[in-house]
Amino acid sequence: MTETRDVWVFIEQEEGESAPVSLELLGRARELAGELDGEVTALLLGHEIDGLPQQAIHYGADRVLVAEHPELELYRTMPYARVATGLVTERQPYIILLGATPIGRDLAPRIASAAGAGLTADCTELEIGDFERRGEVYKDLLYQIRPAFGGNIIATIVNPEMHPQMATVREGVLKLTDPDPARQGVIERITPHFESHDLALRVLKREIRLPSIDLKNAAVIVAGGMGVGSKESFDLIIELARVLGGEVAASRAAVDAGFVSQEHQVGQTGVTVRPRLYIACGISGAVQHRAGMDQASKIIAINTDPNAPIFEIADYRIVGDLKKVVPKMIRVYREDRVQGETA
Ligand code: FAD
Repeated sequence: MTETRDVWVFIEQEEGESAPVSLELLGRARELAGELDGEVTALLLGHEIDGLPQQAIHYGADRVLVAEHPELELYRTMPYARVATGLVTERQPYIILLGATPIGRDLAPRIASAAGAGLTADCTELEIGDFERRGEVYKDLLYQIRPAFGGNIIATIVNPEMHPQMATVREGVLKLTDPDPARQGVIERITPHFESHDLALRVLKREIRLPSIDLKNAAVIVAGGMGVGSKESFDLIIELARVLGGEVAASRAAVDAGFVSQEHQVGQTGVTVRPRLYIACGISGAVQHRAGMDQASKIIAINTDPNAPIFEIADYRIVGDLKKVVPKMIRVYREDRVQGETA
């Protein structure tokens, strides 16, 4: 079969709920497919996932390939890889996108290896463009864009020959587009077939630890870095976040120093956030930190160094000692709140 110009998105789901990154990917896939004159196909595997095919169409899919089977209820590498690689080999999509989640990172290499395809992990942007090598022009390739060499450069990676072109994309970096309930699409049901060794692994028990903080969806984030100085001083950051009704975040250096736990880390190897307000206290603004927060609507930075790189992206710059500035902010916001309550 000849290669299509279709863009596939693997829809990750858990207990009948799609992962937000899969819906983000559908919106981007829609734009890419528009440039390629191709279709968006959602690949949906699971069991009792009734509402999800329609949801995928509303978020941008033209076609949904649905494989429903009790053996696909919980993600396991072998049965999922069997179904996904079978469909990819048979239908030859042009591009396949997955979320850079634990499941996406597990499944993507399986598909790439079976299909002999190239794969770029942890992309932060995707575009369509041409590529020239030794006088030969490759048209309409997927530019797979991601930080590389410790985040010091942004690399654009292309895969001219070994298709499909595959990428996993970090959660939260692509904008979630609004669903369109009027969108129409085709739902195609697939009957999955497994080899007996695909089912060798059984899940006997699952324990789910819910994250105690929700940085990804926070509207206000107060973040502290090494400039905070100590675990004790980090109480200032926690208090400011509390007064503002926001979440607490940190740079990797602050996490490594033990000021707060790892789940608070924002950046390339932490969480990507998109709050309405991000207050960066004593954070230098290394490129790896910025990769996780530079899409905040408004950024306030507090730093003693007027040349700190964080100021390059800040909307409001406060040059000063956070140990003097943050208590003042807490006091002012508290007074504001009290006045608001008594007014
Ligand atoms: P520093 O760079 O030490 O900056 C401290 C800042 O505080 C300085 O600008 C200083 O002027 C200011 N300051 C000092 N005292 C005060 C004061 N009293 N008041 C106000 N300001 C003060 N980092 C991340 O954050 N997230 C990541 O996900 C991440 N991933 C990485 C991945 C890789 C592969 C690599 C190589 C690095 C990664 N890093 C990440 C680390 C990153 O490169 C930086 O080292 C880190 O972000 C620095 O943290 P910081 O700004 O808190 O500390």
